[in-house]
Amino acid sequence: MSDCIFCKIAQGEIPSKKLYEDSDLVAFHDINPAAPVHFLIVPKEHIASLEEAHARHEMLLGRILLLAPMLAKELGLTDGFKTVINTGKGGGQVVFHLHVHVLGGGKLAHV
Ligand code: 5GP
Ligand code: ZN
Repeated sequence: MSDCIFCKIAQGEIPSKKLYEDSDLVAFHDINPAAPVHFLIVPKEHIASLEEAHARHEMLLGRILLLAPMLAKELGLTDGFKTVINTGKGGGQVVFHLHVHVLGGGKLAHV
């Protein structure tokens, strides 16, 4: 997707504070953090939202979830963290490239 900001970040065309990268995933700090630690885990493949994910993405989605605690630990979130996936306009999604928010390090709104 040529006009997708997270595709551009994944491809290194737009700078970000990257935490992790492999052939399938990238993780970087959110530009407008909602907690002392707030980063995003993003697949390199353009999947617009969780509604657009299919059975072939099963492994990818699993890898995203397993990466969350690994990076949270690296960033010192020993007390736990929150994961959020906003899906669609009704779910508050603003950037239509699937991403998992990981937040922690302070008092978080309870959902
Ligand atoms: P959504 O509401 O779509 O789940 O969240 C999108 C998130 O992406 C927001 O928390 C927003 O701050 C973050 N974001 C939007 N544009 C950029 C950007 O260019 N760089 C980074 N690092 N984060 C961004
Ligand atoms: Zn994209």
